[in-house]
Amino acid sequence: DRDAAVAQVEGLIRDIPDFPKPGIIFKDITPLLGDAAGFRTAVDLLADSIEGPMPDYIVGTESRGFIFGAALAYHIGAGFIPVRKPGKLPSDVYACEYKLEYGTDALEVHRDALSQGARTLIVDDLLATGGTARATGDLLRRLGAEMLGYSFVIELSFLNAREHMIDAPVNAIVRV
Ligand code: AMP
Repeated sequence: DRDAAVAQVEGLIRDIPDFPKPGIIFKDITPLLGDAAGFRTAVDLLADSIEGPMPDYIVGTESRGFIFGAALAYHIGAGFIPVRKPGKLPSDVYACEYKLEYGTDALEVHRDALSQGARTLIVDDLLATGGTARATGDLLRRLGAEMLGYSFVIELSFLNAREHMIDAPVNAIVRV
């Protein structure tokens, strides 16, 4: 059942204290990726959480969003759109800057990635502050996409990112 599936996924996520810097507990998904049954369960749970119309595209954020996003796209029969760090995409892009704890970062998407009104679902491994996800949402709005929601494997719920993501439903398999 679903509870057992969620527990299976949760059990394959490893806490690495003080990575990449002191005070951060890094949620390491490599044990999940390396476990054939666990990885499949995680992708199945992402697929099961989709309610209503199916997305035309899964939008994955570099780089761990590519892993789950591409697998989910294949599973449900959707296209995959990569949202990348600056300078990686070869054709014309839209860029969105977003704030980090110190300084800013940016994400880019191809301007011709989709046609107006295409249904999209944003996927990433982990929701922390939500800055990455909100920047991705901004890019999709500029493309004229319809946003069906945001979906994550892990949500750090104590950071309350959800409260600022009111434009589309937020789903997470494991909430810690
Ligand atoms: P944020 O923009 O703050 O929501 O951060 C989300 C992005 O940073 C995701 O792409 C995650 O892969 C990564 N990330 C942030 N915090 C962590 C963490 N504690 N463990 C693993 N990845 C993290």
